[in-house]
Amino acid sequence: KLASKEVKKETSIIPITDTLSIGGKEIVVMAGPCSVESEEQIISSALAVKEAGAHVLRGGAFKPRTSPYSFQGLEEEGLKLLAKARDLTGLPIVTEVVNPETADLVAEYSDILQIGARNAQNFALLKKVGQLSRPVLLKRGMSMTIQEFLMSAEYILSEGNQKVILCERGIRTFETATRNTLDLSAIPVLKEKTHLPVIVDPSHGTGHYQYVAPMAYAAVASGADGLIIEVHPDPERASSDGPQSLKPKKFARMMAQLKLFAEAA
Ligand code: PEP
Ligand code: MN
Repeated sequence: KLASKEVKKETSIIPITDTLSIGGKEIVVMAGPCSVESEEQIISSALAVKEAGAHVLRGGAFKPRTSPYSFQGLEEEGLKLLAKARDLTGLPIVTEVVNPETADLVAEYSDILQIGARNAQNFALLKKVGQLSRPVLLKRGMSMTIQEFLMSAEYILSEGNQKVILCERGIRTFETATRNTLDLSAIPVLKEKTHLPVIVDPSHGTGHYQYVAPMAYAAVASGADGLIIEVHPDPERASSDGPQSLKPKKFARMMAQLKLFAEAA
């Protein structure tokens, strides 16, 4: 299998821009709001996460919501606002693609295509992004085994796109104190099985902002190649995922602490 460690021993280094790649020595941090809500919101988020040392700006324009009555995203308008934030800050963009029909449009505006947990076994979508040239951030489905996760990656790789980054974002268990159960053991398990880089999403993994920083540190200590973190200038008023979003100041504190851990390692 293409993702297998038997094919390649060292972690694959996935180029994002001329100056940024994932899978090398540096821990790559992607940060920003769950959803793009307005120009002011995404620009202020972008400036804040850049100032704190993030490498990539996240923000959903197409949102795969559990309820059809919840905010569905600004769609193409949201992509344009992300591009504006990139022009202003130089931060590359990661944003979600929810179906094959809009994949080319999302690829035009973004630097990394995110496949969400709810689409992790949408094989038509996986094949479609496998035919594009953009790097793909593939999230683990909420009830997916590691083996199934790796098979989803194969759907992308086997279409020709080798730029796949895996993301552990928590799985569904009986526990309700957290939104999901962040499976940190997935990091060393994946590291044993695949050469693809592995990043961790402690925001969706826990669902509560208080638990995000400790799980971020634990992920890095466990061998993760990067993190994706939700940051919002005003979480109380966020259109989605406010309770798990860090305010810029807390995010900056987390980044400073993370740097100390990286230096110690
Ligand atoms: C998100 O990143 O906002 C998101 C919807 O994540 P997931 O697909 O992991 O639930
Ligand atoms: Mn979210």
